[in-house]
Amino acid sequence: MAPAAPYAGRRVCLTTLHGKEKVLARPFFHGLGAQLQVCGCDTDQLGTFSGEIERADDPITTCRRKAELGLAATGLPLGLASEGSFGPHPVVPLLPVGQEVLVFLDRERQLTLVEQRLELRTTFASRVVAPSDLQGPEVLRWLHQVQFPSHALIARPHAPGQPGNPSGLCIKAIRTEPALEAAIARCAALSADGRVRLETDMRAHCNPTRMASIRSLGFQLVRRLRRLCPACATPGWGRLEAIPGLPCRCCGTSTALVARERWGCATCSHTELRPRRDGRTVADPMHCPWCNP
Ligand SMILES: [Zn+2]
Ligand SMILES: [Zn+2]
Repeated sequence: MAPAAPYAGRRVCLTTLHGKEKVLARPFFHGLGAQLQVCGCDTDQLGTFSGEIERADDPITTCRRKAELGLAATGLPLGLASEGSFGPHPVVPLLPVGQEVLVFLDRERQLTLVEQRLELRTTFASRVVAPSDLQGPEVLRWLHQVQFPSHALIARPHAPGQPGNPSGLCIKAIRTEPALEAAIARCAALSADGRVRLETDMRAHCNPTRMASIRSLGFQLVRRLRRLCPACATPGWGRLEAIPGLPCRCCGTSTALVARERWGCATCSHTELRPRRDGRTVADPMHCPWCNP
């Protein structure tokens, strides 16, 4: 794709300590003709995955504040930051999900764009093990599931009944079997019950699944930045919401399926209703509350 004009030749500050430029530089260069300038300022003050510092805000606010830190540190008017959060699925608690967020700031246009992606293919998991479990089939299966060693782990002493991590020991970025054995031995020695809490290290540079997810989101954001508002020509024209109510093919009753999309501008109030992207104008009666109650 040819670079769209608004950001061609511009530098965009990416606030990251975790090598995210490896996956975000390409979409920004090829889609917009823009160069990323990495700002390695300390974002841990906004909270860490491993919980040493509690995150005070929701992921979108944290992400925006990261991007703002980069703008303050570099003096650039264009900024970018990424943030991930992981936890149980809101509807299916046994299923872990990841939420990836990218925030783009353009101070010259007073523009803030947020792109998000729900990631069901996440390796987010944790479990408590004893040193003697390490060669057992259950732990080996779990290690395979969380894609160790291509995806790193974190170990800390298990502290049953005690909130937090009283010993303060937390070993991150474990990427080899010898390192895992050593970490488990160290943590077990400091644990009241001799067991160790293992969890996936979700920092982007430790988790290739996350990196791939951030890359897809980067392309999604760049596609949006390439579209200009038809009313004011600000970059970032895109879908704001999906509107349900696709009519049933047999009786015309509104169903819960998406009927149209509302697209809008990130700075002016212009919006447009657009048809579904797949061209469907009617719903199968199986989705109809009247034909198939
Ligand atoms: Zn019907
Ligand atoms: Zn506009």
